[in-house]
Amino acid sequence: MTIYLARALDTPEDPFRGGVLRAEESVAFRVVDGVIVDRGTLAGVLTRAEPLEDELIDLRDGLLLPGLIDTHVHYPQVRAIGALGMPLLEWLDTCALPEEQKLAEDGYAHAVAAEFCFGLLSAGTTTALVFGSHYATAVDSLFREADRVGLRVTSGLVVSDRLLPEPLLTTPERAYDEAVALANRWHGVRRNRYAVTPRFSLSASEPILEACAEVMQEIPTAFFTSHVNENLAEVAAVAELFPEASGYVDTYDRAGLLGPRSVLAHNVHASEVELKVLAERDTAISHCPTSNAALGSGLFPLASHVDAGVRVALGSDVGAGTGFSLLKEGLQAYFMQRLLADAGLPLTPAHLLWLATAAGASALGLAHQIGDLSIGKQFDAVLIRPRLGDPLDVCLRNTSSSEEALGRVFALGTVNDVAGVWIGGGQVSGAIRSPRPPLTR
Ligand SMILES: [Zn+2]
Repeated sequence: MTIYLARALDTPEDPFRGGVLRAEESVAFRVVDGVIVDRGTLAGVLTRAEPLEDELIDLRDGLLLPGLIDTHVHYPQVRAIGALGMPLLEWLDTCALPEEQKLAEDGYAHAVAAEFCFGLLSAGTTTALVFGSHYATAVDSLFREADRVGLRVTSGLVVSDRLLPEPLLTTPERAYDEAVALANRWHGVRRNRYAVTPRFSLSASEPILEACAEVMQEIPTAFFTSHVNENLAEVAAVAELFPEASGYVDTYDRAGLLGPRSVLAHNVHASEVELKVLAERDTAISHCPTSNAALGSGLFPLASHVDAGVRVALGSDVGAGTGFSLLKEGLQAYFMQRLLADAGLPLTPAHLLWLATAAGASALGLAHQIGDLSIGKQFDAVLIRPRLGDPLDVCLRNTSSSEEALGRVFALGTVNDVAGVWIGGGQVSGAIRSPRPPLTR
């Protein structure tokens, strides 16, 4: 049993629906078996606890946030991050797909899985919906490594049967068999869960999408994830391949793949009809702003999604994105909305925190367990503590409100400011550095 004393910020209620930032300069969390069983003033928590048995850890020299949640990140692309200057389809051909083929080799895949999980943890990401590999053995490596380090990972075998390099292709039968075998091995095992994952409709024929739907029927609590409406050339190519479909979203919907456990990445070029369908299915969208900017995919219409009642969370889209930091994704999401001028949705620091935490928990069906630091939730948390004298440290010492401090964290924070990460009450990354004066005044 541990009591953490912290300057904590979270968003238990959706700021897009009237929720506000919850910020406390000094709040105590009593954590038992990984779960927050009490929160309040230290005196209050101590009165209700059995103090002799509890360790007290003072984290008030940093800002404690809920663990960050990445809803779209490609495990096989860690070594491909940062290739600039290409639109989506060219980037896939010259950069991502050649790298993804290397994961056919077990040793390579295992090394990449370790790099990938380290990348997530060191960025303060505690939960992720991970786009897996085209190779079942490589997906196994990912689940094994995630399990070893304690990450909450939902992932699966990526399947395609056309228009990709031959080594990445499969058949509907093999896609079904391998997916079911992987799901039986990993779905619901500790923090791992399975996600049925056709790469995108461009590379997935109707028969393989039907095979995906059969896996969903076989494993009814599995998740579904893919890409949609990312790039205009891609959208046009999908329209040609699916003449019967009313749009890109419909290519998945007509196969019965959309529901509350479905998360589609991007949706930059969404029609009103498609937004209505997504809202009706309660399917969530993973918004990947640095990727959308780096590939020139477009400016995400967040206001249309919110107005239509479509759930939106953040994704890093590594390697098309520019790193694992969801702080950077939050800042880029803010930039995107600014650039949309009158069509943009002005985002406050509370919106950014919501998108990087509780919105992800909702998208992944985990809102009852994670996403904020309320009583009853798992203690998944990240401590932001910049180096003494760093511009972020200077700013945090000179802000007048917690909301302002949170804005500075998104504007200036990097993975180097992540000083500690907890998942289910266990500290999994980052040594607690030497104490320094608290930021609280
Ligand atoms: Zn992606």
